[in-house]
Formats: sequence, structure tokens, C-alpha cells
Amino acid sequence: MNSKKPILVGMDLEGVLVPEIWIAVAEKTGIEKLRLTTRDIADYDVLMKGRLAILEEHKLTIDDIQAVIATLTPLPGAKEFLDWLRSQVQVVILSDTFSDFAQPLMRQLGYPTLLCHSLDIGENRFIRDYCLRQREAKRESVKAFKSLNYKVIAIGDSYNDTAMLSEADHGILFKAPQNVIDEFPQFPVRHTFPELKALLTEFITLG
Ligand SMILES: [Mg+2]
Repeated sequence: MNSKKPILVGMDLEGVLVPEIWIAVAEKTGIEKLRLTTRDIADYDVLMKGRLAILEEHKLTIDDIQAVIATLTPLPGAKEFLDWLRSQVQVVILSDTFSDFAQPLMRQLGYPTLLCHSLDIGENRFIRDYCLRQREAKRESVKAFKSLNYKVIAIGDSYNDTAMLSEADHGILFKAPQNVIDEFPQFPVRHTFPELKALLTEFITLG
């Protein structure tokens, strides 16, 4: 029996395929403090609790946030890249966003498989809390795919991706800021979709 493993790509969403949702919300609402992302604060719980407190303080509901997200489009070239990648290997989007946020962007990306978190929304449409599907969800997903005998390539841009990049057979930093690149020199770095496509083609060809 041939034991060659098929390749599965686990790919981050925000910052690599679509804009950072919270930065867009900060720009639309003028609330500067919402600009902080996983690129700035490594502890996701601290970051999210802070975001929810700011939304409450400014009386912003899930509908206000969804109205902003509805104006966003994928990064230039992202849809074409993803279509190409999905024609080559299996692809799963591994994100720390929430299903309540992602839907308009998933539609524009052709509904790739998305594993992410969800929000607890009250009757008054205010976001009460966030619900993690599981702790360390990105890394656990990569581990699970490896246990299914896939060779996993993980791609991301931020602190919340580095654990899955380490867990994967190949980890790639894509469109990462310099501080993340400097702290994780073990990962190859790519900045454009053509560069990323070239590296992935190498990995896919090598198998
Ligand atoms: Mg990201």
C-alpha cells in the first residue's frame, strides 16, 4: 500500500485573504482603540474582552458591526489565489473570527470551509460574550488533520497563527508585519499571492 500523505492547507482569514475586520470597524466608527489586533496583543482573551467592553461603552450592536463587514471585500487577488489553491489541494480556513462576522466575506470567497468561533448575542442585539469553539483552535485543527494522515501546510500572518505554523509540516508567514517576522525567523516569509503560489507549488510538487 502506498502511504503517501495528501496535502491539506490550513489558512488564516483576516490579514491574509480579507482585511482585518476590527480595523475596518475602528475606521468606520472612529473608535481608535478598536484598531488593536492579534498583531498588537498576543493574548486573544485580553484582546476580545477589551473589544467587547469598547462596543458596550459605545452602544454598538452586532447589526452595527455586520453593516461594516458588509462593505468589505477580499484583498486583491485573494479569490483567484484561493480558487487556484482549492483546485490543487484541500483547503480549510482556520480563523479566530466569528461565524456571525464571516458570512459576507465567505460568500465573496466562494464559501470555502471555515472553522472559527461564534458570538453570544443578546435579545437586544448587543454582543454578550464570545464563544471559543475550543482553546488553541487553529493548532488543534492542524493536529487533528495530521491525525487523519494529511500533510499540513499552515499559512498566517499573526501571533495567533504561530502555534499552528509550528504544528504544521510546513508553516508560512504571509503578509506578516515585521515584528512577527523578527520573532519567528524559522518560518519562510511571503508578501504577495504570486510569491505564495510559487512556494506552495514547490511544496505540492515535492508532496
Ligand atoms: Mg490574521
